[in-house]
Amino acid sequence: MADTLAPAEDRRHRAAKRYIYAWGGGHAEGDASMRDQLGGKGAGLAEMTKAGLPVPPGFTITTAACNDYFAAGEQLPDGLWDDVLDAVREVERETGKGFGDAANPLLVSVRSGAKFSMPGMMDTVLNLGLNEQTLEGLVGLTGNERFGWDAYRRFIQMFGRIVMDVPGERFDHALEGKKHARGVKQDTDLSAADLRDLVAEFRAIVRDETGRDFPTDPYEQLDLAIKAVFRSWFGKRARDYRNSQKIAHDLGTAVNVVTMVFGNMGDDSGTGVAFTRDPNTGEKTLFGEYLTNAQGEDVVAGIRTAPKIAQMATEMPEVYAEFQRIGQQLERHYRDVQDLEFTIERGRLYMLQTRSAKRTAAAAVKIAVDMVDEGVITKEEAIGRVEPAHVDQLLRATFDPSAVEQAQRIVKGLNASPGAAVGRAVFDADDAVEWVERGEKVILVRIETSPDDFHGMAVAEGIITARGGATSHAAVVARQIGKPCVAGSADLVVDYTSKAAHGAVTGIDFKQGDWVSLDGSTGDLYLGALPTVEARFEDQPDLQKLLGWADEVRRMQVWTNADKPSEAAQARGYGAQGIGLCRTEHMFREGERLDIVRGAILVANAATRAKAKAAAGAELDADEREVVGRFDAAMAQLEVLQQGDFEGIFEAMDGLPVVVRLIDPPLHEFLPNLEEQLVKVTKAGDAASEEDRELLATIKSMHEQNPMLGLRGCRLGLMIPDFVKVQTRAILNAQIAVKQAGGNPIAKIMIPLVGHVNELAATRALLETEAKAVEEKAGVMVDYKFGTMIEVPRGALTADEIAREADFFSFGTNDLTQMTFGYSRDDAEGGFLLKYVEDKILPFNPFQTLDDAVAGLMRIAVEKGRSTKPDLELGICGEHGGDPESIAKCERIGLDYVSCSPFRVPVARLAAAQAALTVADRDK
Ligand code: ADP
Ligand code: MG
Ligand code: MG
Repeated sequence: MADTLAPAEDRRHRAAKRYIYAWGGGHAEGDASMRDQLGGKGAGLAEMTKAGLPVPPGFTITTAACNDYFAAGEQLPDGLWDDVLDAVREVERETGKGFGDAANPLLVSVRSGAKFSMPGMMDTVLNLGLNEQTLEGLVGLTGNERFGWDAYRRFIQMFGRIVMDVPGERFDHALEGKKHARGVKQDTDLSAADLRDLVAEFRAIVRDETGRDFPTDPYEQLDLAIKAVFRSWFGKRARDYRNSQKIAHDLGTAVNVVTMVFGNMGDDSGTGVAFTRDPNTGEKTLFGEYLTNAQGEDVVAGIRTAPKIAQMATEMPEVYAEFQRIGQQLERHYRDVQDLEFTIERGRLYMLQTRSAKRTAAAAVKIAVDMVDEGVITKEEAIGRVEPAHVDQLLRATFDPSAVEQAQRIVKGLNASPGAAVGRAVFDADDAVEWVERGEKVILVRIETSPDDFHGMAVAEGIITARGGATSHAAVVARQIGKPCVAGSADLVVDYTSKAAHGAVTGIDFKQGDWVSLDGSTGDLYLGALPTVEARFEDQPDLQKLLGWADEVRRMQVWTNADKPSEAAQARGYGAQGIGLCRTEHMFREGERLDIVRGAILVANAATRAKAKAAAGAELDADEREVVGRFDAAMAQLEVLQQGDFEGIFEAMDGLPVVVRLIDPPLHEFLPNLEEQLVKVTKAGDAASEEDRELLATIKSMHEQNPMLGLRGCRLGLMIPDFVKVQTRAILNAQIAVKQAGGNPIAKIMIPLVGHVNELAATRALLETEAKAVEEKAGVMVDYKFGTMIEVPRGALTADEIAREADFFSFGTNDLTQMTFGYSRDDAEGGFLLKYVEDKILPFNPFQTLDDAVAGLMRIAVEKGRSTKPDLELGICGEHGGDPESIAKCERIGLDYVSCSPFRVPVARLAAAQAALTVADRDK
């Protein structure tokens, strides 16, 4: 039989291109490498057939056909239909059945399948080819009338909903009504006669909704179904999903036409879904669910609660053993955990789908590490198997156990996707979006979810459903987008009309807007907002092992942005190799310091003028001397405090570099708000204190139209040099102190916002004079590197000149992005920017992911800087330093390190390794 299949290259076809690839009888025209053309499902079916596994014969119509269908204005390409007919002939030969043959009918499923799995995004039609005549044949052949009518009602229901756009509820209603009338609970309790009645009702519904009769010609059914699958590619759900997952819209979907096998032929039949390892924990054990006497979507839709796959071992031991063997074979073949769909027809097992399994963060890490230990994959592959977002998730909070003890549990469901989530209950996806736009955190509560709920799931903190198992839509999607999810909470009674729910057993109720806490790791839903605790990196040996491998392959170092010793220590625990940005001004804001800083700022300008006058040899008057005295006293206090801060940081980072940035923000940021101070003084009238008046005058005098472009960064240091001097002394004296105490402090001093080399040269001169003074006073040599941020476009464009004055560059990509786009970040992100992204005016938020033009400026700066100083040290300290995509761009630009906030350090270690592997791969 197999030799009826023509070899791939010379299959006859009438269309201009070859659109069809068939499989059956142990042979397949396609294979796993053809995912682009065949989609994931088609490629998997071909590959499984080739591997000798039991797959019902069928064929794939390629993604190219889908694209050509749209290109021709929703017309099948010329000749394609003839080729479909040929392929159907082949399946007929393969199965010995006839499509539309009343005596021995061939039935098929028509299944979508894109290159990337889009769970539940496009629907499958089962039992296609049925009509009154073929139904009779089916019943005659199987001797099972009930089965025949069940298949037929399912077909009308699915085809009606998916292909003919009849609202699914109408069928559901009729089905529920029938069960009610018969006093039964399960679909399986309906008799053949009941189902026959139902078919009549269903057909009437179709006529009522569409104004036409349900199509009885199998070929017309096939034609309509193929086109419906093509059209579903541009359906709203599919589009939304692709947008959220950054999947291109021009890939198209393939269509798979597959010989039906029947899981609903009795108790020796069934259908199921299983993973070769537990997708929640990664444990190496078959995980999944199955139902006897059921078809297709029954398991996924949670129509009946399905038993765990392990139960199959007792119910159908031989089939179970075979399935286990196949699972292992496929896992070895694909060298990854597989997600399998199968059907058992009268004791015979058929494989209907295989694909790489979606998994939780914990499972991803465990599986990757285990598979290296098992010798299945290499360390490099393991690094590629874990997504940076997974690492992020593993460091996320869980609920405080003591709070959980006291908490009121509403219900317990299935732990479908781990993590702790707290939010206010909402009951539909649109509400979720609306509430989140208002700044609320929400938990989406649903009876079950469908692809239409995706937009709500994407914005919710977590999801809970009353129905559906571990492989239900809610569970699969939640795991994939990394949201905590509790599924199948059978005791949860949800009422959409009143937007309220209650636990049937506990009696606890809650309504829209009430706070609830959901634990996707345990399956619990609690009333109220529970406090959370940090995830402990120390307790995750698999993750540490994986990141250790990442450290072996990455080229770039990972540093951190930390302003306090405690942050530095935490980052070091996470594997940070230095501090790339220590912002001194954060130290200015704490407690008593702010008052000291304000005291200095009040007289900063006057004191600086007076000092200049004195330096020019002029005599100062009493007022001037007083101002200078006040200023110096405040600065001296600050110097002592800052030196203490720096000592703490040098100690925490002993032996690792610490880049300290001198004062950066405009001074008004340390002062009260102008309007508030004005109100205060005006209200007090004559009673206003001298101090408040003085403060008001200072705030007014420092007011700028555009502070982000005003007196800040190196400009401020040049206007009020004492800031530079005091900070230099504090840093270097701290270094001396820590060194004398036996430590190994490595200091790097960084100047922000340089646009012209002269700014840097002048600051450097100031700083070096001060450093000499420190050396003389201490009687020891100080050791530090001097560098600059590159965050002004002019700085990037003149990096060759700037490099003459700098030992290192650190890209401040927040400012560089602001200034390259000409956006003020705070105004843009609070305003038009998100709309821009939504409307696709910008492809993404450039403050989250490095824009290519900004990266281009960085590249110029790197090349120019290195042309002056080949060993110039180059890093990034903008927030992009913790974003995986941006990290990949930094790798390509050739930076030496990325620096990010402490909790992003583990993510960055993995992302940097992945970037190094990708670049190495590209350069091969
Ligand atoms: P999805 O992409 O949503 O997983 P599938 O095309 O895999 O959709 O179809 C869903 C389910 O329908 C399958 O898991 C399987 O149970 C059932 N199914 C599909 N094709 C057949 C077939 N030829 N015979 C029996 N069941 C089928
Ligand atoms: Mg499937
Ligand atoms: Mg900056």
